Amino acid sequence: FDKLKSGLAKTRDNFSSRVDGLINSSKVIDEEFYDQLEELLILADVGAKAAESIINDIKKQVKQQKLRDPEQVRALLKDELKRVLSKNAASKDMDLYPRIILVVGVNGVGKTTTIGKLAYKFKQDGRKVLLAAADTFRAAATEQLEIWSQRAGVDIVKHEEGSDPAAVVFDAIQSAKAKKADVIICDTAGRLHNKKNLMEELKKVNRVVEREYPEAYKEVLLVLDATTGQNAVSQARVFKEAVDINSIALTKLDGTAKGGVIIAIADELSVPVKYIGVGEGIDDLQDFEPQNFVSALLD
Ligand code: GDP
Repeated sequence: FDKLKSGLAKTRDNFSSRVDGLINSSKVIDEEFYDQLEELLILADVGAKAAESIINDIKKQVKQQKLRDPEQVRALLKDELKRVLSKNAASKDMDLYPRIILVVGVNGVGKTTTIGKLAYKFKQDGRKVLLAAADTFRAAATEQLEIWSQRAGVDIVKHEEGSDPAAVVFDAIQSAKAKKADVIICDTAGRLHNKKNLMEELKKVNRVVEREYPEAYKEVLLVLDATTGQNAVSQARVFKEAVDINSIALTKLDGTAKGGVIIAIADELSVPVKYIGVGEGIDDLQDFEPQNFVSALLD
């Protein structure tokens, strides 16, 4: 929790401190107060739609409960944020093994780092992990992934640069079966500018998984970078059109004052945020829990 709280320091400074300022300096709950609160939500990248729905719900509550003191809005705001963040809370699929996780996302969002952290996390939980370097498009991607596999102390399956990603995944599956691995985490190429190729490539990988590993639980994890604000939301929309995404990892929350984007994502995308990145270290990936998150942000 402390790690989360310090990771959210920039967003706290930007959003929470200003909410405090607004509440402390307001004498009444009027339209001016609501406008300013909505403005603060938008500045934190909550997104116009989510901000409006949050403000409207708070208004309703204030009316129903006949509240007058701005201080009382603080609890309402917390409840609202929890409500939105819980909308698509990750279902408890944690115990389904073997599993294969296809990790997708554009380059630079923290995909490789997240895979490394995730491998470490599963390993800490006593799971046997195998990485598959299926971003064969960039040689650097495989090298980076290899470094992370060493850090996390897990095996990796890789091929030469330019080889067929589906072939890497095929080999990883055979290797996972032979070694009785619990989890395969596959890196994939993040070429969003060429949506058609990306889609074809992922489809091919999908077919291999379905044919070779029907007993595995398949998860498609989209990695998004919180520092890109509303861009993260539009990336998510594009990926959702191309593939069936089951879950989201939101990285670099520690590097942005716009952590409110997590609310826009939860509000808009019927896909649960499952993990959040709060630093560059191997243990800086946390399971996302709305309750904790809102406390770390506003308490
Ligand atoms: P990829 O191109 O998507 O594979 O991105 P990388 O995994 O190489 O990460 C790009 C940069 O983001 C690296 O410098 C990482 O250390 C950094 N990064 C990734 N996740 C986080 C995070 O949660 N917090 C911070 N502060 N940096 C991160």
